[in-house]
Amino acid sequence: MTWDSKRMITEVAAGVFFLQGPASNWTIIRETRQPGSGKFFLVDTGYPGDREKLLESIAHCGLTLSDCLGVVVTHAHSDHIGSAKFLAEQGIPIYAHSLELPNLKREVSEQATLADFSWRILIPRVLGWLRHAVRAGGLADVAVAEPRELTEEVLRGLPGAPELVLTGAHTTGHLALYLPESELLLTGDVVVTGHPLSRWEGLQTLPKLFHHAPEGIAVGIQKLGKLDVQAVLPGHGPYMRVERDWNQRVQVADYWPYR
Ligand SMILES: [Zn+2]
Repeated sequence: MTWDSKRMITEVAAGVFFLQGPASNWTIIRETRQPGSGKFFLVDTGYPGDREKLLESIAHCGLTLSDCLGVVVTHAHSDHIGSAKFLAEQGIPIYAHSLELPNLKREVSEQATLADFSWRILIPRVLGWLRHAVRAGGLADVAVAEPRELTEEVLRGLPGAPELVLTGAHTTGHLALYLPESELLLTGDVVVTGHPLSRWEGLQTLPKLFHHAPEGIAVGIQKLGKLDVQAVLPGHGPYMRVERDWNQRVQVADYWPYR
Protein backbone atom coordinates (compact mmCIF):
# COMPACT_ATOMS: atom_id res chain seq x y z
CA MET A 1 0.00 0.00 0.00
CA THR A 2 1.38 3.41 -0.89
CA TRP A 3 0.92 6.54 1.15
CA ASP A 4 1.46 10.07 0.04
CA SER A 5 1.58 12.42 3.01
CA LYS A 6 0.59 15.46 0.95
CA ARG A 7 -2.39 13.73 -0.58
CA MET A 8 -3.55 12.04 2.59
CA ILE A 9 -3.44 15.09 4.86
CA THR A 10 -6.55 17.25 4.93
CA GLU A 11 -6.94 20.40 6.98
CA VAL A 12 -10.59 19.83 7.79
CA ALA A 13 -10.89 23.04 9.83
CA ALA A 14 -8.32 25.62 10.90
CA GLY A 15 -5.54 23.72 12.65
CA VAL A 16 -7.26 20.31 12.44
CA PHE A 17 -5.30 17.97 10.17
CA PHE A 18 -6.87 14.59 9.40
CA LEU A 19 -4.43 11.91 8.33
CA GLN A 20 -5.68 8.93 6.43
CA GLY A 21 -3.00 6.32 7.05
CA PRO A 22 -2.55 3.09 5.09
CA ALA A 23 -5.08 1.20 7.25
CA SER A 24 -6.00 3.46 10.17
CA ASN A 25 -6.13 7.20 10.78
CA TRP A 26 -4.79 9.82 13.15
CA THR A 27 -5.42 13.55 13.61
CA ILE A 28 -3.18 16.47 14.47
CA ILE A 29 -4.85 19.41 16.23
CA ARG A 30 -2.78 22.55 16.59
CA GLU A 31 -3.13 25.76 18.53
CA THR A 32 -4.61 28.53 16.39
CA ARG A 33 -5.49 31.14 19.02
CA GLN A 34 -1.96 32.10 19.87
CA PRO A 35 -0.25 33.19 16.66
CA GLY A 36 3.18 31.64 16.26
CA SER A 37 2.50 28.82 18.70
CA GLY A 38 3.34 25.42 17.29
CA LYS A 39 1.73 23.53 20.17
CA PHE A 40 -0.43 20.62 19.12
CA PHE A 41 -1.81 17.29 20.21
CA LEU A 42 -2.44 14.01 18.45
CA VAL A 43 -5.50 11.81 18.41
CA ASP A 44 -4.35 8.20 17.87
CA THR A 45 -1.08 7.17 16.24
CA GLY A 46 -1.74 4.46 13.62
CA TYR A 47 -0.04 1.06 13.54
CA PRO A 48 3.51 0.61 14.89
CA GLY A 49 4.64 0.39 11.25
CA ASP A 50 3.15 3.83 10.55
CA ARG A 51 5.71 5.62 12.73
CA GLU A 52 7.68 7.20 9.88
CA LYS A 53 4.45 8.35 8.30
CA LEU A 54 3.27 9.78 11.60
CA LEU A 55 6.48 11.74 12.08
CA GLU A 56 6.44 12.81 8.43
CA SER A 57 2.88 14.09 8.81
CA ILE A 58 3.81 16.17 11.87
CA ALA A 59 6.72 17.71 9.98
CA HIS A 60 4.49 18.28 6.95
CA CYS A 61 2.21 20.41 9.15
CA GLY A 62 5.25 22.50 10.10
CA LEU A 63 5.27 21.13 13.66
CA THR A 64 7.94 19.55 15.84
CA LEU A 65 7.55 16.70 18.28
CA SER A 66 8.90 18.76 21.17
CA ASP A 67 5.74 20.93 20.88
CA CYS A 68 3.41 17.95 21.25
CA LEU A 69 1.20 18.46 24.31
CA GLY A 70 0.04 14.85 24.38
CA VAL A 71 -1.70 12.01 22.61
CA VAL A 72 -5.39 11.34 23.13
CA VAL A 73 -6.14 7.70 22.49
CA THR A 74 -9.67 6.88 21.31
CA HIS A 75 -9.07 3.27 22.33
CA ALA A 76 -6.11 1.01 22.95
CA HIS A 77 -6.16 -1.24 19.87
CA SER A 78 -2.75 -1.70 18.27
CA ASP A 79 -3.76 0.08 15.05
CA HIS A 80 -4.43 3.24 17.08
CA ILE A 81 -1.67 3.20 19.71
CA GLY A 82 1.13 1.88 17.50
CA SER A 83 3.51 4.74 18.34
CA ALA A 84 2.17 5.67 21.77
CA LYS A 85 4.95 3.86 23.62
CA PHE A 86 7.57 5.54 21.43
CA LEU A 87 6.00 8.97 22.03
CA ALA A 88 5.80 8.31 25.78
CA GLU A 89 9.53 7.59 25.69
CA GLN A 90 10.01 11.10 24.26
CA GLY A 91 8.28 12.48 27.35
CA ILE A 92 4.88 13.00 25.70
CA PRO A 93 1.90 12.15 27.92
CA ILE A 94 -0.52 9.53 26.62
CA TYR A 95 -4.14 10.18 27.63
CA ALA A 96 -7.15 7.91 27.55
CA HIS A 97 -10.47 7.55 29.31
CA SER A 98 -9.95 6.14 32.81
CA LEU A 99 -11.85 2.98 31.78
CA GLU A 100 -9.40 2.43 28.93
CA LEU A 101 -6.21 2.62 31.01
CA PRO A 102 -6.09 -1.16 31.79
CA ASN A 103 -6.32 -1.84 28.03
CA LEU A 104 -3.55 0.63 27.31
CA LYS A 105 -1.32 -1.02 29.90
CA ARG A 106 -2.35 -4.42 28.50
CA GLU A 107 -3.54 -5.57 31.90
CA VAL A 108 -6.55 -6.65 29.87
CA SER A 109 -7.02 -7.10 26.13
CA GLU A 110 -10.27 -6.35 24.36
CA GLN A 111 -8.97 -6.77 20.82
CA ALA A 112 -9.98 -9.50 18.36
CA THR A 113 -7.31 -12.18 18.03
CA LEU A 114 -6.33 -14.25 15.00
CA ALA A 115 -8.27 -17.15 16.56
CA ASP A 116 -11.45 -15.04 16.52
CA PHE A 117 -11.23 -14.87 12.72
CA SER A 118 -11.19 -18.69 12.59
CA TRP A 119 -12.06 -20.01 9.08
CA ARG A 120 -12.49 -16.48 7.76
CA ILE A 121 -8.72 -16.09 7.37
CA LEU A 122 -9.04 -18.34 4.30
CA ILE A 123 -10.96 -15.61 2.49
CA PRO A 124 -8.49 -13.66 0.30
CA ARG A 125 -9.77 -10.23 1.37
CA VAL A 126 -9.46 -11.14 5.05
CA LEU A 127 -6.07 -12.76 4.57
CA GLY A 128 -4.77 -9.71 2.66
CA TRP A 129 -5.89 -7.38 5.43
CA LEU A 130 -4.47 -9.59 8.20
CA ARG A 131 -1.19 -9.79 6.34
CA HIS A 132 -1.04 -6.00 6.19
CA ALA A 133 -2.01 -5.73 9.88
CA VAL A 134 0.72 -8.16 10.94
CA ARG A 135 3.36 -6.50 8.73
CA ALA A 136 2.39 -3.12 10.15
CA GLY A 137 3.13 -4.44 13.64
CA GLY A 138 -0.41 -5.38 14.64
CA LEU A 139 0.93 -8.15 16.90
CA ALA A 140 3.74 -6.10 18.45
CA ASP A 141 3.90 -5.24 22.14
CA VAL A 142 2.34 -1.79 22.22
CA ALA A 143 1.60 -1.52 25.95
CA VAL A 144 2.04 1.93 27.47
CA ALA A 145 3.46 1.66 30.99
CA GLU A 146 2.12 4.89 32.48
CA PRO A 147 -0.84 6.26 30.57
CA ARG A 148 -2.76 9.16 32.09
CA GLU A 149 -6.43 9.78 32.56
CA LEU A 150 -7.97 12.29 30.15
CA THR A 151 -9.51 14.62 32.74
CA GLU A 152 -11.52 17.80 32.25
CA GLU A 153 -8.47 19.75 33.30
CA VAL A 154 -6.29 18.11 30.64
CA LEU A 155 -8.97 18.77 28.02
CA ARG A 156 -9.09 22.45 28.94
CA GLY A 157 -5.37 22.72 28.20
CA LEU A 158 -5.64 21.27 24.69
CA PRO A 159 -6.17 23.29 21.47
CA GLY A 160 -9.71 23.36 20.09
CA ALA A 161 -11.41 22.95 23.50
CA PRO A 162 -12.15 19.26 22.87
CA GLU A 163 -14.90 17.40 24.70
CA LEU A 164 -14.84 13.74 25.54
CA VAL A 165 -17.79 11.45 24.82
CA LEU A 166 -17.55 7.99 26.32
CA THR A 167 -19.08 5.53 23.87
CA GLY A 168 -17.67 2.27 25.23
CA ALA A 169 -18.73 -0.83 23.26
CA HIS A 170 -15.81 -1.10 20.84
CA THR A 171 -13.69 -1.30 24.00
CA THR A 172 -14.83 -0.52 27.54
CA GLY A 173 -13.25 2.92 27.61
CA HIS A 174 -13.59 3.85 23.92
CA LEU A 175 -14.11 7.58 23.52
CA ALA A 176 -15.08 9.96 20.76
CA LEU A 177 -13.64 13.46 20.76
CA TYR A 178 -15.81 16.43 19.86
CA LEU A 179 -14.44 19.79 18.78
CA PRO A 180 -17.33 22.21 19.46
CA GLU A 181 -15.78 25.25 17.74
CA SER A 182 -15.40 23.49 14.41
CA GLU A 183 -18.21 20.97 15.02
CA LEU A 184 -15.96 18.09 14.12
CA LEU A 185 -16.39 14.65 15.65
CA LEU A 186 -13.57 12.14 15.91
CA THR A 187 -15.47 8.88 16.17
CA GLY A 188 -12.65 6.36 16.61
CA ASP A 189 -13.95 2.91 15.70
CA VAL A 190 -17.56 3.29 16.82
CA VAL A 191 -18.43 4.86 13.45
CA VAL A 192 -16.13 4.45 10.46
CA THR A 193 -16.48 5.42 6.79
CA GLY A 194 -14.64 2.48 5.28
CA HIS A 195 -12.46 -0.48 6.12
CA PRO A 196 -10.32 -2.87 4.05
CA LEU A 197 -12.77 -5.67 4.95
CA SER A 198 -15.85 -3.70 3.93
CA ARG A 199 -17.06 -3.09 0.38
CA TRP A 200 -19.30 -0.29 1.62
CA GLU A 201 -18.47 3.37 1.43
CA GLY A 202 -19.83 5.90 3.88
CA LEU A 203 -20.94 5.88 7.49
CA GLN A 204 -20.94 2.37 8.87
CA THR A 205 -20.08 0.25 11.87
CA LEU A 206 -17.36 -2.36 11.99
CA PRO A 207 -18.51 -6.00 12.13
CA LYS A 208 -19.45 -7.38 15.56
CA LEU A 209 -16.27 -9.42 15.75
CA PHE A 210 -14.28 -6.21 16.21
CA HIS A 211 -16.28 -4.93 19.17
CA HIS A 212 -15.77 -5.97 22.75
CA ALA A 213 -19.44 -5.34 23.56
CA PRO A 214 -21.28 -5.13 20.19
CA GLU A 215 -24.66 -4.68 21.86
CA GLY A 216 -23.53 -1.24 23.06
CA ILE A 217 -22.61 0.20 19.66
CA ALA A 218 -26.11 1.53 18.88
CA VAL A 219 -26.22 3.32 22.24
CA GLY A 220 -22.84 4.90 21.55
CA ILE A 221 -23.96 6.12 18.12
CA GLN A 222 -27.17 7.53 19.58
CA LYS A 223 -25.14 9.51 22.08
CA LEU A 224 -22.99 10.97 19.29
CA GLY A 225 -26.10 11.86 17.30
CA LYS A 226 -27.03 14.49 19.89
CA LEU A 227 -24.05 16.66 18.94
CA ASP A 228 -24.03 19.31 16.22
CA VAL A 229 -21.63 17.80 13.74
CA GLN A 230 -20.39 19.09 10.39
CA ALA A 231 -17.87 16.36 9.67
CA VAL A 232 -16.93 12.95 10.99
CA LEU A 233 -13.24 12.05 11.31
CA PRO A 234 -13.27 8.26 11.74
CA GLY A 235 -10.66 5.73 12.84
CA HIS A 236 -10.89 4.07 9.41
CA GLY A 237 -11.91 5.45 6.02
CA PRO A 238 -11.93 9.04 4.74
CA TYR A 239 -13.32 12.00 6.68
CA MET A 240 -16.84 12.89 5.72
CA ARG A 241 -19.03 16.00 5.77
CA VAL A 242 -22.38 15.11 7.30
CA GLU A 243 -25.88 16.53 7.57
CA ARG A 244 -28.35 16.57 10.40
CA ASP A 245 -29.43 13.12 11.65
CA TRP A 246 -26.27 11.63 10.18
CA ASN A 247 -26.28 9.06 12.97
CA GLN A 248 -29.46 7.53 11.58
CA ARG A 249 -27.69 6.83 8.32
CA VAL A 250 -24.91 4.71 9.81
CA GLN A 251 -25.09 1.30 8.13
CA VAL A 252 -24.77 -1.60 10.52
CA ALA A 253 -22.15 -4.07 9.29
CA ASP A 254 -23.95 -7.28 8.45
CA TYR A 255 -22.01 -8.29 5.37
CA TRP A 256 -20.58 -11.70 4.62
CA PRO A 257 -18.62 -13.33 6.21
CA TYR A 258 -19.40 -11.48 9.44
CA ARG A 259 -23.14 -12.08 9.74
ZN1 LIG B 1 -9.21 0.47 14.51
